[in-house]
Amino acid sequence: MDVRRLTPRTDAVLADPRLAEAEQRLGRDIVLAAVRRAQDLVRAGEIEPGTAADTAVASLPPTAASLTPVINATGVLLHTNLGRAALSEAARAALQTAAGCTDLEFDLAAGSRGRRGRGMLAALAAAVPAAEAVYVVNNNAAALVLAATALAQGAEIVVSRGELIEIGDGFRLPDLIESTGARIREVGTTNRTSAADYAAAIGPQTGFVLKVHPSNYRIEGFTASASVADLAGLGVPVVGDIGSGLLAPHPSLPDEPDAASWLQAGATLVTASGDKLLGGPQAGLMLGRSDVISRLARHPLARALRVDKLAVAALEATLVGPPVPVAEALATNPAALRQRALLMAGNLAHAHIDARVEQTEAAVGGGGAPGLGIPSAAVSLPEGLAHPLRVGDAVRGGVRPAVVGRVENGRLLLDLIAVAPADDEVLVAAVLAAAG
Ligand SMILES: *Cc1c(COP(=O)(O)O)cnc(C)c1O
Repeated sequence: MDVRRLTPRTDAVLADPRLAEAEQRLGRDIVLAAVRRAQDLVRAGEIEPGTAADTAVASLPPTAASLTPVINATGVLLHTNLGRAALSEAARAALQTAAGCTDLEFDLAAGSRGRRGRGMLAALAAAVPAAEAVYVVNNNAAALVLAATALAQGAEIVVSRGELIEIGDGFRLPDLIESTGARIREVGTTNRTSAADYAAAIGPQTGFVLKVHPSNYRIEGFTASASVADLAGLGVPVVGDIGSGLLAPHPSLPDEPDAASWLQAGATLVTASGDKLLGGPQAGLMLGRSDVISRLARHPLARALRVDKLAVAALEATLVGPPVPVAEALATNPAALRQRALLMAGNLAHAHIDARVEQTEAAVGGGGAPGLGIPSAAVSLPEGLAHPLRVGDAVRGGVRPAVVGRVENGRLLLDLIAVAPADDEVLVAAVLAAAG
């Protein structure tokens, strides 16, 4: 008798109560695909016909979206491939509220239209008193596109040769800006640009001077650059892209520019990302002179670049809520990290896993504080655990988050700088599952 002819019918498998329940949660397509995979295995003679439903249930994804939760043990605090900043609990709660219908653009008291995201904009304005007005778009790239379009279309944007940066994944700031119809006027050299270089390039054709923080590289040695204060005296608007989103100076990041300082130094407009050192959702912050902010907000392109309701909610909670995970990580002392690593390595060694503690140097990453090493600690494990920690059965089944570390000298290092202390137990459980 050929078992393949006994392949159970689709509707018979779908009638299994566990699959019927999964259909409510995941939708019919995902469940149907799992059933078809199980039927194929029966036809291939790899499983018994009677186990088709069990096999389908076991292969169901944990949620309807394919994103997998990850513990960031890379030692890079803001990892762009891992979605940059982890949000605070306050921001996560705000996302839940924003997921439904809210008064996003509605005045409940008056019963009529209200300004979109007014609470978030008020919180940003309050956080940076040096800004006359504020506006928020989809991300920092969008902020630059809006500024170039509204303030310099058909005109020139004067920028130093040392600041023509590639932000990542092949995207270059000069290309982005020129896509708006503005022209880049390069001044100075890669390592040295003076205020006089800018002054010589400025004329009736100038839209604005752009100062970009080189956020992912450093030029060292024989260098010179003009400060925002130098540029503010040149008689044209100065737009400053600080990148990281620090709103005020940070004591442990002395070389990182911040919005308040550049505005006080005379910048007309400052742009920044919401999901880097600010520790919030993806967003493009725009802070500056009120007449300029009004022009930006009223430009037709602003509608195409507008920030979504989830980001509106998370950004306000980030601004007014308790310290964000990024800030807490930066404030952690290395001895505390080492203590956590010792405890975890001890627990793992107890389960006969070759785990040790290693002193490491972590990085801010994601466009912030290039070249700055942050003293940190890691649990060092056999390299072979790297793959199962990322895609093992426990991860695919949604039982454990994936863990992404970094491999160095044949060992897998799980750096704790970006791991929330509350996740230490989950991390240990994930290693045990991967080793098991
Ligand atoms: C990260 C970065 C950008 C791009 O910001 P997004 O929010 O990712 O669009 C632009 N400029 C600088 C200096 C940056 O560091």
